[in-house]
Amino acid sequence: MDINTAWEELRTRVASCRKCKLCETRKNTVLGEGPIENCRCVIIGEAPGEEEDESGRPFVGKAGQLLTNILEKGGGIPRSSLYIMNVLKCRPPENRDPTVRETLACNEFLEAQLALLHPDIVVTMGNVPTKWLLKTSQGITKLRGEFTDWMGIKVFPMFHPSYLLRNESNAVGSPKYLTWQDIMKLKAKLDTLAKLDTRS
Ligand code: SF4
Repeated sequence: MDINTAWEELRTRVASCRKCKLCETRKNTVLGEGPIENCRCVIIGEAPGEEEDESGRPFVGKAGQLLTNILEKGGGIPRSSLYIMNVLKCRPPENRDPTVRETLACNEFLEAQLALLHPDIVVTMGNVPTKWLLKTSQGITKLRGEFTDWMGIKVFPMFHPSYLLRNESNAVGSPKYLTWQDIMKLKAKLDTLAKLDTRS
């Protein structure tokens, strides 16, 4: 089966999924968006918020706009060159943290996406995806800005844009300041991988 067919099958399964209670309150499932062929880098957030639930698209609210700015203005990385998704495909009510039960229920879809995309790099945004993938109790402040090998993929944790919206300072050492450092580091790694060009 080719990747496009497999992806559409996955989309259909997610759209009709009722494996956890979030199906009762969602308006739309949010599988993600971006290139699925030759996808070098994936961004994983936590879960859809209100705007994402309304639109069925990932990172389209204020945090999503900030993510686009960080990628494109900070790193010179076109948002459209990355696949963007979340750990959960349905919105938790009031944007509360996902429960372990919900995350476990949704994990098969996350794993299927990563297996089909087989990216070189996964950028985890914030604590939830970082801790879930790396199975660590260490927080994002400790882990951000470093590449960690996980199942043959390089995981690169960064602060979640919604956290940056609550921490406006650009002072040296602030979360925003550190994020500008991180995005340049990510860009340098992507450039190195592009030069090696292991995919073509
Ligand atoms: S969050 Fe995931 S497991 Fe729960 S209903 Fe939505 S798609 Fe299914």
